[in-house]
Amino acid sequence: MRLRQDRECLGDACVSSGRADVVIVGGGLASGLTALRIRALRPDCDVVVVEQKPPGAIDHTWSFFHSDLDAATRSWLLPLAAVTWPGYSVRFPHYARRLATGYASIVEAQLASAVDEALGSRALRGVHVADLSANVARLSDGHEITAPLVIDARGARPTASLSLAWQKFVGLEVRLAGPHGLDGPIVMDADLPQLDGYRFLYVLPFDETRLLVEDTRYSDGDGLDLEGVAADALAYAATKGWRVAEVIRREHGVLPIALGGDIDAFWDEQAPGVPSIGMRSAMFHPTTGYSLPDAARLADLIAAAPILESGPVLELVRERSKHLWRERAFFRALNRMLFLAAKPDQRWRVLARFYRLPQPIIERFFAARPTFGDQLRTVIGKPPVPVRAALSAVVGGARHA
Ligand SMILES: Cc1cc2nc3c(=O)[nH]c(=O)nc-3n(C[C@H](O)[C@H](O)[C@H](O)COP(=O)(O)OP(=O)(O)OC[C@H]3O[C@@H](n4cnc5c(N)ncnc54)[C@H](O)[C@@H]3O)c2cc1C
Repeated sequence: MRLRQDRECLGDACVSSGRADVVIVGGGLASGLTALRIRALRPDCDVVVVEQKPPGAIDHTWSFFHSDLDAATRSWLLPLAAVTWPGYSVRFPHYARRLATGYASIVEAQLASAVDEALGSRALRGVHVADLSANVARLSDGHEITAPLVIDARGARPTASLSLAWQKFVGLEVRLAGPHGLDGPIVMDADLPQLDGYRFLYVLPFDETRLLVEDTRYSDGDGLDLEGVAADALAYAATKGWRVAEVIRREHGVLPIALGGDIDAFWDEQAPGVPSIGMRSAMFHPTTGYSLPDAARLADLIAAAPILESGPVLELVRERSKHLWRERAFFRALNRMLFLAAKPDQRWRVLARFYRLPQPIIERFFAARPTFGDQLRTVIGKPPVPVRAALSAVVGGARHA
């Protein structure tokens, strides 16, 4: 069914003032994946995406392990990736390991072009949405787009209902003066001075001389010294003998790490009647703050939903978010051990110990699908933090739970 479209041109964007079948407010990761899946499974569906950033604004690289997703979801996601690698490595003091789990990165520009290609002039960039309700998105200039399904994909919002710590980072995409010599990503290099909690470097080799070098900290607070951390990332590059010829681009993030919370209260805070997706729906891996796998799986579910209207889709998304939150209590207990029991400069020991587990357990951990046996293997043995503190953080944690 195609609904009537009255178009008007506003600046560079050909804005629809009128109707669509689906309006997605926010044009980031979850929005892009959902729009593409709806268009793939329901080609007649008129989907509008409204993104406030101007065309060409690029500040994300989104990565995932192949094992995060089942084959069906991977089959449509991998073609969106700019780079894939057959494995990755991790480094800790006195211990390094290479894992044969595939890794892939989607760059924001590529996802945006795929969405632009699929939606044409229905992908509105540089357009801010002032307000939204179950059936209307009101643009800042006063125009309105109405649709049976309006989805809120505006990214994370502040909340008092979840107890969070933070994964913070600044990443620099750099061009080196010569080859870096890496044969794959370094997902964690923690063999370095610890700062502001658990600190590690994350390095993605896009080609022989182009790298993303990201300095990351697992911290109690959400403050991020952009210049200081960028300087630390460059200093790390220098210690590896990589001479930076050019900084091409920067990205930074402050991602939530879940310690506890009340998921029902979180959903009660949402705008009434409006389904949300991505970080805004609290669907992220509790220990990494990454949302791509959940967003991809949810995109499949929404695209295949029997009725594309706000009421039924809200029901579907809310139930899924609550179900995942409850199912992932184990991760929050582990996070409490990492943040509450381990001294900040000793947090790396928890990760170093984790990375000695068999590869399939590590894969299921990052896919947020650990078996009961995996959970036991992850915690059994002498904890790398004081035993009493670990027990009180994992079993107790009442104020966070
Ligand atoms: C730099 C960075 C790198 C990350 N890397 C990874 C990774 O490798 N793997 C992974 O799984 N996760 C990663 N994450 C975490 C998480 O998956 C991302 O934050 C992801 O982008 C969240 O998706 P989202 O769709 O919820 O929000 P976003 O992708 O942030 O999209 C929200 C969009 O809504 C727009 N918007 C907000 N308000 C309005 C408005 N009023 N009107 C119009 N538009 C609006 C914003 O401009 C934004 O583009 C990363 C996060 C960051 C910040």
